[in-house]
Amino acid sequence: MSDAGAAETLFERIIAGEIPADVVYQDDSTFAFRDINPQARVHVLVVPRKRYRNVGELAEGDPELLSRVLLTARKVAEIEGIAESGYRVVFNTDADAGQTVFHVHAHVLGGEQLGLFGK
Ligand code: AMP
Repeated sequence: MSDAGAAETLFERIIAGEIPADVVYQDDSTFAFRDINPQARVHVLVVPRKRYRNVGELAEGDPELLSRVLLTARKVAEIEGIAESGYRVVFNTDADAGQTVFHVHAHVLGGEQLGLFGK
């Protein structure tokens, strides 16, 4: 289910250009920009222009758009020169995962050897 009726999120304001961002790539359905608090040498967020709360709701509501988010993640990796060395795509979902912005986004992380999953 789309969250279209809920209050505007930070990422909608970034997509609208109301808050500045270091944009890496954009197309008609997705928007990618550098995370303000990078957790790896490359840390880019990929956001669908249309808002869903989390990746599960996106997968259910618009699987084609989820596919586009993942293709943009690969495009970002190519732009950043990490498609060959490898990268990680992460979707945090709700409190225990640390989701803070409730407009689904993929974290694209790489550019160095990443640690293992966990705390
Ligand atoms: P999450 O915790 O998965 O919801 O991810 C939200 C991410 O948004 C965090 O990694 C933040 O560092 C990042 N973030 C918050 N504000 C901004 C901003 N103004 N520009 C870019 N990234 C941001």
